[in-house]
Amino acid sequence: MENLDWKNLPFGYVPTKYNVRCYYRNGEWGELEVYDTPMFNLHIAATCLHYSQQAFEGQKAFKCPDGKVRVFRIEENARRMQATCRGLIMPEFPTDRFVEMACKVVKLNSEYLPPYESGASLYIRPLMIGISPQVGVSPATEYMLVMFVTPVGPYFKGGFSTNDYAIVRDYDRAAPLGTGTYKTGGNYAASLLANKMAREAGYTCEFYLDAKEKKYIDECGAANFFAIKNNTYITPKSTSILPSITNRSMQQLAKDMGMKVECRDIPVEELETLEEAGAVGTAAVISPIGKIKDLGTGVEYVISKDGKPGPICTKLYEKFRGIQYGTEPDIYNWMTVIE
Ligand SMILES: *Cc1c(COP(=O)(O)O)cnc(C)c1O
Repeated sequence: MENLDWKNLPFGYVPTKYNVRCYYRNGEWGELEVYDTPMFNLHIAATCLHYSQQAFEGQKAFKCPDGKVRVFRIEENARRMQATCRGLIMPEFPTDRFVEMACKVVKLNSEYLPPYESGASLYIRPLMIGISPQVGVSPATEYMLVMFVTPVGPYFKGGFSTNDYAIVRDYDRAAPLGTGTYKTGGNYAASLLANKMAREAGYTCEFYLDAKEKKYIDECGAANFFAIKNNTYITPKSTSILPSITNRSMQQLAKDMGMKVECRDIPVEELETLEEAGAVGTAAVISPIGKIKDLGTGVEYVISKDGKPGPICTKLYEKFRGIQYGTEPDIYNWMTVIE
């Protein structure tokens, strides 16, 4: 794929050659099947269409300077998809087969793996949907798991930099005992209006407070939130946020750097006292926060005084990227090398 402009790829869909699918019928998962078309036939009464029986994941594969191809913590994606499936009464897909399927889809499309120097990567999207018809509200009896890949450009096109966020109080992404802890499309449908509002006000993304009291920080759009203060990595404890694998990994790296880690309620006023803050997730790894504007109260919290990423965000980011690209030791065996 010599002609792809790797550096300027959007976080969008670039067609690749193959996808891999697996069907669940008669109470069991079948064989992995390779397809060379992105299309499929779906029953008009499929449960995924009417009752949002769907679970998805996201992970990246990297072409490393040593020539190897590595995928980050893919077993964790398998486990999280199993948790989503339990929450939506969908059949769990075994971890070892999930890893095999992800490696297979990357290998089949290896010509779309962006070169190391470009900073781009190959995004892996697993998706499970209920495909059998149902008009009354109940789970499907048949499911499809598909994995496809698409090359995505570097998140920071002009280098590691800050973004500004807007607290939106008019909408909630998920309820305290709702589906916020599951990676499912419905949460994203629920976030579209808040995201539009934040963007129209000139911000990168929307920022949520807890749905019940609007007192504590919950999530930043489709990423987790973390803050740095007094040599401590602080991240919200909440029953409505998605357990980010990047966040969990950062907590480990922060500990390894001699920092304390706190998982607790973060009152919105505490934003005034932070030294650094960022959004964490697969797409950006860390997106350092410049300022956060509360669109409800009008208060603006300036996190980065000079508008640049802080030293700890930068250190965590570089360490993390180094592990992904095989240039830092992978002491926790986070990376799977695709042979
Ligand atoms: C996927 C996702 C994240 C980030 O999770 P990672 O495993 O770090 O990619 C955070 N919040 C939401 C709502 C998500 O869907």
